[in-house]
Amino acid sequence: MKGAIHSLAGVALSLALVSTASAQTLSRPTACSTCIGNWYYFDEVATGAAGDWNCGGSSYDGHHGSDFSLIGNNGAIDTGYDIVATAAGTVVAAEDGHFDHCTACGGAGCGSSVGSGYGNHVVINEGSYKVIYGHMRTGSVRVAVGDTVSCGQVIGQIGSSGCTTGAHLHVETRPVGGAYASAFDPFQGGCSPTSPSLWTGQGPYRGLPDATCGAPPPPTCPSGTYAIWTCNAAATERTRCLSGVVSTEACSAGCISMPSGTDDVCATPPPPDCGSLSASYTCTADASARERCSSGMIETDACAAGCVASASGDASCATPPDCGSLAATYACAGDGLSRARCVSGTTEVDDCPAGCVVTAAGEDDLCRAVPDGGVQDASAPDASGPDASAPDASGPDASGGDASAARDADVDGGGSVVMKGGCSCDLAHSAGSKPRLPLLALPFFVLVAFRFRRHPR
Ligand SMILES: [Zn+2]
Repeated sequence: MKGAIHSLAGVALSLALVSTASAQTLSRPTACSTCIGNWYYFDEVATGAAGDWNCGGSSYDGHHGSDFSLIGNNGAIDTGYDIVATAAGTVVAAEDGHFDHCTACGGAGCGSSVGSGYGNHVVINEGSYKVIYGHMRTGSVRVAVGDTVSCGQVIGQIGSSGCTTGAHLHVETRPVGGAYASAFDPFQGGCSPTSPSLWTGQGPYRGLPDATCGAPPPPTCPSGTYAIWTCNAAATERTRCLSGVVSTEACSAGCISMPSGTDDVCATPPPPDCGSLSASYTCTADASARERCSSGMIETDACAAGCVASASGDASCATPPDCGSLAATYACAGDGLSRARCVSGTTEVDDCPAGCVVTAAGEDDLCRAVPDGGVQDASAPDASGPDASAPDASGPDASGGDASAARDADVDGGGSVVMKGGCSCDLAHSAGSKPRLPLLALPFFVLVAFRFRRHPR
């Protein structure tokens, strides 16, 4: 069967080895595994005779493809035998509508002018090469230009259109962009320059290739990237690309270009500096923290309660003072004989030999006064009475005992109480320094303090 292109018979073939090492390999082009009965391979003989990749005669002069002939010839075309893409790719040409029962290369609707001799055909760019699928059945073309196809996808059916003498599939491989003369034999063999085989498994001589898709082509690296580390123009980083994956490393101390073919390197940053700090903690000058040098980095540890230096070893942070549950205002002790409060984390205790009086929440509890000869109740400050000789004209009644008069003791705007007996005591100050009032004045102090609290002026 003379199946395909004869118009350029005798074109000299390149003797150079065709390398297909990085190409996406081909899978069987037919959906069927038993519908093919004859093979006409790529003609590996430059002139005159014909010879195939296996050094046999299963070819014909000037044939630039591999013919897979349908069992049953044209009579089997209308049964419909699918053609599948041999690899993933993009459709770059597709043509349909030509007569598909040709028996000779010529005559009405048949010949080298019909679909460039391929009749109804599809061309797919499959990576580093393109594949022409020729002589398809009329109306069977399933793809259009621009379509993305996967390996094994049906693209049409076997027919006998164009320059052909009978039903077969013509598969022709060329470099992407290559012309007719650039077509090459996908089979590897003793009389083929192709190595390795472009088929994933090319199968036996005069048999179908394996229906096994090849691995997708390896990812490609962007232009300007290389497999070795290369500094950027600003020398702030270096980049390389391995198997399509770009890696970038920042070079904080700059990137140093090395001789061609050698990895560029990041400059080594200067060693970190802790100054005079040692590996042991020392207190800062204000003792608010401790610090040390660790791997060239200064480590600082804040000390809220101050830093305690150590003659040997690490300085330590002081333990913060703790008054427990004590508040800042005086509170009577459980036995009622003292009161305590918390000042800057330190507990202050005030003895109350005459007893402690609980006041309103948030205010200082008070110690009862201890008058001469006995215990005085804070609620009866006038029991012993103030000194009648007190010079304060506005003071309480000289006869004593008048509680209402006692409450009229002078209270100035600043909170000072002028007491009989000559003591002028500032209330705010006395709260902090705990002055010892004359025993006779205490009842007045207590009384006035209560009044002042209840009737602030
Ligand atoms: Zn052919």
